Amino acid sequence: MENKLNIVLEKAFGYKSFRKGQEEIVKNILDKKNTLGVMPTGGGKSICYQIPAIIKKGTTIVISPLISLMKDQVNELNSSGISATTINSSMGNKEISDEIRKIRDNKIKLLYISPERLLLDSFIELANSITVPFLIIDEAHCISQWGHDFRRSYLDINTFIEKMEKKPVIGAFTATATEKVMKDIKNTFNISDESTFKENIDRENLYISVERDVKKEDYLINYLRENRDKAGIIYVGSRKEGDKLYEKINHLGYKVGIYHAGLDDKTRNQMQEKFKNEEIDIMVATNAFGMGINKTNIRFVIHYNMPKDIESYYQEIGRAGRDGEESQCILLFSNKDIMLQKYLIENNHEGADEFTIEEKYKKLNEIIKYVNVQSCHRGYLLKYFGEKEVKDTCGNCSNCINYQEIDITEEAYKIISTIGRTKERYGINVIADILFGSRSAKIKENNLNEVSTFGLMKNLKKPVIKSYINALLSQDYLFESDKTYMVLKLTDKARELIKNKELKVLKKESLNYVKESSKEVGNLELFEILRMLRRDIAVAEKVPPYIICSDKSLKDMCTKLPLDLKSMLKIQGFGEVKAKKYGDKFIGEIKKYIELNNVERVNTEIKNLNEKVKSYEITCQLYFEGKTIKEITEERILTETTVEGHLFEGYQNGLSINIDDFIDEGNEKLILEAIKSSTTGKLKEVKEFLPENVSYTEIRAVYAKHFG
Ligand code: ADP
Ligand code: ZN
Repeated sequence: MENKLNIVLEKAFGYKSFRKGQEEIVKNILDKKNTLGVMPTGGGKSICYQIPAIIKKGTTIVISPLISLMKDQVNELNSSGISATTINSSMGNKEISDEIRKIRDNKIKLLYISPERLLLDSFIELANSITVPFLIIDEAHCISQWGHDFRRSYLDINTFIEKMEKKPVIGAFTATATEKVMKDIKNTFNISDESTFKENIDRENLYISVERDVKKEDYLINYLRENRDKAGIIYVGSRKEGDKLYEKINHLGYKVGIYHAGLDDKTRNQMQEKFKNEEIDIMVATNAFGMGINKTNIRFVIHYNMPKDIESYYQEIGRAGRDGEESQCILLFSNKDIMLQKYLIENNHEGADEFTIEEKYKKLNEIIKYVNVQSCHRGYLLKYFGEKEVKDTCGNCSNCINYQEIDITEEAYKIISTIGRTKERYGINVIADILFGSRSAKIKENNLNEVSTFGLMKNLKKPVIKSYINALLSQDYLFESDKTYMVLKLTDKARELIKNKELKVLKKESLNYVKESSKEVGNLELFEILRMLRRDIAVAEKVPPYIICSDKSLKDMCTKLPLDLKSMLKIQGFGEVKAKKYGDKFIGEIKKYIELNNVERVNTEIKNLNEKVKSYEITCQLYFEGKTIKEITEERILTETTVEGHLFEGYQNGLSINIDDFIDEGNEKLILEAIKSSTTGKLKEVKEFLPENVSYTEIRAVYAKHFG
């Protein structure tokens, strides 16, 4: 059985292993027990019922609240070669009767349906004429008046079950984990405690931050600049604020949309579709936007104003990073936000809902407390939602991450000189390409490979080079002219920097031991090419790009560089059908890329992958040649922290690095004790136990020496 489940998982969905909780749920459903699965958004609820549906004879009925959600699921299943369909009010009569025929002919494994349709006589007749092994209730919290999303029509589900001649096994799924809601669902569908599976609702891939007392607009514009081309939502507290921001961002040349209750249905639908189809990257929206957004690659959610309560906030940030990739959630707080929320409570702007004014104030106070807490933000949220085991620090929120300032003066010279030499005619991408030494067509056509700074930063990843350029932009060494072309120009401050050798440029970087290693971004150029291809396929098939495959799959291709179907099957999310259907197209682009681009670089990258020549080995080699750490940072254009990290890695891998050189005599014992006393073992906490003069480098060295 176990084996069989894994085979289905791999062949049909292209996943190598189950995520936490999935397998137990699948087995429990297959054991014919009514089951409740509570998992965070993006946790992977769908396959928990899709796998039983595939394995078992008959048609599984899935109840889902929104047509857009149903369509997405059906498209996604079909693209993996699994027969699924939906009957809904947006379809014509002919279309509906075609689908019904397929269902009667036992050709459909999963049927998605809205609760409103359940009690139609014709539907009850249909359900009773076929085999229905499982009845799945998606977004099951809609059944509860205690949830944030109660739907009267969900109450019909039980009547429907009563009318079914043979009772199916029930599977209920939700991301809402409050006790009251869970109890409602369990009572309604007769689900035992043993058949209730609740996964930790933490979303580790979300960086959570609260920024207080920042100039919101400046902050936002800087942020967007640094996160160009990424998909994100900006939530605002009022329509007026939304319209204003939308205008501003649009004027700056970004692909942006707007969504609020003041717009007509048609406009809102168009906006939503454009966002899904990647025609726009950024959506400025009130809390009216979000339900039914299945888009998996939303990289940031910014709250431009504080939301009304923690429930809404957690749900809204939950829309980021459903593909499990790192994503950012940033709340920009000012005291004005409190006034706005109080005004909304007093004037009951949102229409009638189930909470009294006192309850609303209570909820408002809770989120105000959250915004101001000095300890871990994630911990606060998890405790709020009743999570039992919560760590003191998470290392991935604004209260847990430490920043250090790094010196990027040398890099600044190179960037400024490149912009100067090319006569201030190019934008951030071209300037980064020159410094990176890219062989793209645009570079060759304009002879930019002859600029004397060409390839000067070839040891850095392009996003890192861009991050340096962005730092210069935000510190006013550079500015961008012209809304359409976004050309980089130098300011007087930049010219002053070049003249006055005393001046230094600093950049804030997160000082987080674990993060450092996960910074590998992979080949961004190829990623963009594959992303475009995915968009083309999506347009041709009339589905959103994320239905074709996730960003994670694309990234996997960028590192594994598959060149045949067999290696395509090793790509995350590519099962047999998908690999056959799209494999050749992706392989074609990858081949072209390898041929067209600096073959040498790609080849060494492949070679590096194969022979596992790691970055740390290069650093250690330089160290053995007698170079100082400072010299290595300059030669490899890395930060000191990274270079030291490489040396420690070398030590751990058996290279003859003298680790004691990095620890002051006498400090080793102190550090070991501090590590023992700390609860999390995180650098920041350990450092707090130690005298001022003990450095982070020493702590890391002790870690490397003693803990491997
Ligand atoms: P939910 O409905 O819980 O929000 P989904 O079922 O949509 O989440 O899954 C979220 C993402 O995780 C999807 O992109 C899905 O393909 C992916 N996923 C689910 N299970 C696995 C797994 N076992 N391995 C890898 N990816 C998975
Ligand atoms: Zn934290």
